[in-house]
Amino acid sequence: MTNPFENALRQLQGAARVGEFPGDLIEKLSRAEKEITVTIPVRMDDGTLRFFEGYRVQHCNWRGPYKGGIRFHPDADIDEVRALALWMTMKTAVSNIPMGGGKGGVVVDPKALSASELERLSRGFVRALWRDIGPQVDVPAPDVNTTPEIMAWMSDEYTKLSGDQTGATFTGKPVGQGGSEGRGTATGLGGFYVFDAVRERAGIEEGASIAIQGMGNVGGHAAEIFTAHGYKVVAMSDSKGGIYKEDGLDPKAVEKYKEEHRSLAGFPDAKEISNAELLELSVDVLVPAALENQITAENASRVSAKLILELANGPTTPEADEILHQRGIAVVPDILANAGGVIVSTLEWEQNLANEQWEEGKVLAKLKETLVPQADLIWQKATEKKIPLRVAAFMVALDRLASAQVQEG
Ligand code: NAD
Repeated sequence: MTNPFENALRQLQGAARVGEFPGDLIEKLSRAEKEITVTIPVRMDDGTLRFFEGYRVQHCNWRGPYKGGIRFHPDADIDEVRALALWMTMKTAVSNIPMGGGKGGVVVDPKALSASELERLSRGFVRALWRDIGPQVDVPAPDVNTTPEIMAWMSDEYTKLSGDQTGATFTGKPVGQGGSEGRGTATGLGGFYVFDAVRERAGIEEGASIAIQGMGNVGGHAAEIFTAHGYKVVAMSDSKGGIYKEDGLDPKAVEKYKEEHRSLAGFPDAKEISNAELLELSVDVLVPAALENQITAENASRVSAKLILELANGPTTPEADEILHQRGIAVVPDILANAGGVIVSTLEWEQNLANEQWEEGKVLAKLKETLVPQADLIWQKATEKKIPLRVAAFMVALDRLASAQVQEG
């Protein structure tokens, strides 16, 4: 299995070779400032006590508080969280928002827990961690398998323990409990804004065909947003597999079907496909929106899309990147394509600190005006220097981090 942290370091070093950056910058960014491992004891419904391992990696705070989601997953491990934290530092710098980079993870299969066990685990994670987080210190958010409800439990626990009443320590909370309008759809919508900004330059027609891997918060919303803008979403999938329909799926109907049947198998008039097949479909745009290491040296030569929009973090390995670049397939990197989530999270944090609640229109306008200029800048840099978009995005981030870097005496 490819180690995501090694991949993140290779990306960092790749950008460092192309640009000219101050001496210690890359060395400093190759490690996290602080890594915390905690044990979370949870009383299960049957009275037994179970222990879960959790992590928070605080990668870099030169540009603002550490910022990044918390993932609940049976395969979460410290290297994955390290990689995700490093990517967050790059993403907040690419977005030019006043945040740094961090990430959290708990090794658990949340589907195997009852709702009350999940609540005790979520609150337990905060009890183990609360002295290391806070509105000006580290601001977590949702990620894979964590929801607005989980953020509300965590935020409530933090308020009780710290006495801080701002609600600004966790973002992605439900609207009405300190959450921001627009946060739920922000990652998918931000991905669409980025796509829309580069579409013509990438030679993609309006109404093009799209395959989306993963239909959680990110992939599910992306499917609806692309469809609403006239694109044809021909394939969708979850962890068990996917479906394909040449004339396009109705994402809302697919989600409803999945809710009722807990699987996509048997969806009317669609062909069942595996996740591996989905990645190789003959489509204009491929949108990985699930997990890391999906497009690898093994399958990159068979990807037929003209453009890959990375809504997941780390879906393409460095080896695959090289193959795709040689084949002329544009990869819009995660640290740009999925930055909409952290941008609206930051707007939520600002609203909490100011004790305000903004209308959706205002939030989405700010999202667009933050993200689109960065997409233009990165496309331009990549074209001028004839480098992949990911390298250009890392270079933009590294320039901003270099200016913010604290010099040691
Ligand atoms: P989620 O838990 O809501 O959904 C994950 C989806 O991926 C589910 O549909 C699940 O069935 C599917 N999936 C899981 N394993 C899979 C596999 N092996 N193959 C195919 N599909 C699989 O998570 P999410 O919040 O939508 O996050 C998805 C990705 O987007 C992650 O890489 C995450 O880090 C990234 N991301 C999320 C946010 C956010 O705001 N939630 C922001 C930026 C990036």
